[in-house]
Amino acid sequence: MELFAVPDLPEIRAGHDLAALIRDAVDLREDDVVCVASTVVSKAEGRSADLDDFPAGPRAREIAARLADHTGEEKDPRFAQAVLEESVEVLMEAPFLLTETRFGHVGVNAGIDRSNTAGGDLLLLPKRPSESAARIRSGLSADRVVVTDTCGRPFRHGQRGVAIGWAGLAPGRDWRGERDRDGRELDVTVENVADELAAAANLVAGEGDGGTPVVVVRDFEWGDHGESDAHFREVETDFVRQAIREWSYE
Ligand code: GDP
Ligand code: MN
Ligand code: MN
Ligand code: MN
Repeated sequence: MELFAVPDLPEIRAGHDLAALIRDAVDLREDDVVCVASTVVSKAEGRSADLDDFPAGPRAREIAARLADHTGEEKDPRFAQAVLEESVEVLMEAPFLLTETRFGHVGVNAGIDRSNTAGGDLLLLPKRPSESAARIRSGLSADRVVVTDTCGRPFRHGQRGVAIGWAGLAPGRDWRGERDRDGRELDVTVENVADELAAAANLVAGEGDGGTPVVVVRDFEWGDHGESDAHFREVETDFVRQAIREWSYE
């Protein structure tokens, strides 16, 4: 398997046809997985915004005040308002704002970025990243697309790439029913391939001014395994999320 960044992509602006730009910059093969940083998907979809677009309501002012208490830093209530408007559930208000976005991804600040923001104060995540992936895919000769974002994960330091949207592949590779080297049947392992590809692509893309938001994964083979459509956990079986809920409302 090989990964490489697509060279010479311009600064992406609202209305840009990402698929056309990628197509012109690289010779794709059918089985390539094209991993696209959400930042440029958002820019192309005009998701850049200003703090002034989000006049703060009472809840946002309360959250900003609580955040400021915890961190000792002034927090802009308009930013809290932007996060609330992008979210369907607030899991934690402080010491950081952890929410579920409208498309099911749980992350800090609803994934709203304050770096590489296309001139605005803020860059919101794409509204429906899997639909974005499907649109990009339909304009490419490759048939697998993953939209990535850089995210912290609980229990570990640092950030990494995760998949927030996908098209043309299932996120999970299902090993259940297969056997380990001692002949024991695997009964729980569904490998999240979309996240693994996103992490690898993110490693190549970098986080700063490198200008390499699109990474091609070539010769990744799924192998003879089942598929799983599951990616974001449903609340009913997300025990960590349930525990956070109980703890934060005590
Ligand atoms: P995120 O992980 O989706 O939040 O994206 P990042 O802000 O970490 O950016 C990932 C990569 O894309 C970095 O190499 C950035 O320099 C690059 N990048 C961001 N915006 C643009 C753009 O408009 N054009 C190009 N060519 N590269 C960009
Ligand atoms: Mn960013
Ligand atoms: Mn981001
Ligand atoms: Mn990043």
